[in-house]
Amino acid sequence: MVEPSFAKRSVINHHEYLQGASIITSDANGIDDNEVSTTEGHLISYDYLVIATGHMGSKCVTKPEKLREYETYNGKIKSSESILIIGGGPTGVELATEIAVDFPTKKVKLVHKGSRLLEFIDEKGSKKVLDWLTLKKVEVILGQSVDLTSNSDDGTYKTSEGETIMADCYFKCTSDPIGSSWLKETSLKDSLNDSGRLMVDENFRVKGFENIFAFGDITDVAELKQGYLAQKHALVVAKNLELLINGSDGGNMVKYTPGSPTTIVSLGRREALLQVWCVTSIGRVPEYVEPASFVMAFNKARADGTPFPPPDISFPKSNFVNFSFTISKSETATQFSPNLIKQSNKIAGLGHNEINKA
Ligand SMILES: Cc1cc2nc3c(=O)[nH]c(=O)nc-3n(C[C@H](O)[C@H](O)[C@H](O)COP(=O)(O)OP(=O)(O)OC[C@H]3O[C@@H](n4cnc5c(N)ncnc54)[C@H](O)[C@@H]3O)c2cc1C
Repeated sequence: MVEPSFAKRSVINHHEYLQGASIITSDANGIDDNEVSTTEGHLISYDYLVIATGHMGSKCVTKPEKLREYETYNGKIKSSESILIIGGGPTGVELATEIAVDFPTKKVKLVHKGSRLLEFIDEKGSKKVLDWLTLKKVEVILGQSVDLTSNSDDGTYKTSEGETIMADCYFKCTSDPIGSSWLKETSLKDSLNDSGRLMVDENFRVKGFENIFAFGDITDVAELKQGYLAQKHALVVAKNLELLINGSDGGNMVKYTPGSPTTIVSLGRREALLQVWCVTSIGRVPEYVEPASFVMAFNKARADGTPFPPPDISFPKSNFVNFSFTISKSETATQFSPNLIKQSNKIAGLGHNEINKA
């Protein structure tokens, strides 16, 4: 949104890395014992099914649409003097920090209904991020929400406490809904927990099913929802599928132990908040810190003047990618890191992955 070349380099088409898999661009909307249906009327039979519909995400289907969406956002930022950001989770905070660094003269206000920013990190971390933003002259209003129905064309917004905010534009950065509403009418409905996440065992098999796996943000694994952890899940799922496809009775499947609570929230171009266990710090994050790989790889490529992704990226073919189907509502993925692409290829897909043995 703030740096258009970032979008051009990070949005990739599924077919660029899923070589050999059949990609169906549509919303999955039903599952029965051996078949998945889509809103466009596809019926795809499966022996093994992998569900990775983390969050609903953007409505854009093609890469040009996605890039246009980012350009529109970028144009909005450039043409506005005052910008209102609604939501103090990672999306809102990262956007505010990037605008503050790239456009230091613009007035940025961030309104968050919680009592502190980034509630999933500890209080010390929230305070450090608040101080960072304040130093960069971003005004943060906590404990209030913005009533968007009150917005008139003159750029006036009312908060839940009756405050009036003037802004040339706003960005709603509240979290996307979990991508599980489509499962509520299916045989998997009893495998959803109260928050709409799929309950999985330590092998990532969906509760009550032998041949259905789920991983990533859609699952109830008790850990922070992070892309680098979804990558680890993907490896376990890929290994377990391979074992089952090769005739294992499941007894030797790989078990997953929830990851160490490492969190990173990027702050502008060069810095990030890093929280490892109970240690929180702000500054430049070393490259070896796993979840930093996307931001760090991008910054490094830019500093070195080299293309992103790095030229040595390779796309390994798995044993079963050639007889798999991937259903995804969009033709594109946002490349999180070169590793994610490598691992996604092993199990044939992002979004909603369906692996067909026969
Ligand atoms: C602002 C922000 C910053 C972040 N920064 C980091 C970071 O620095 N490090 C880190 O490790 N993590 C980070 N994360 C978290 C990370 O993005 C997620 O944990 C990761 O994307 C989860 O991957 P996933 O494949 O499970 O789900 P998603 O990435 O949500 O992908 C799910 C896909 O499924 C599609 N889908 C949904 N329903 C259907 C359907 N019915 N049919 C077909 N397709 C469907 C969606 O459109 C979407 O494309 C960040 C998240 C945010 C919001």
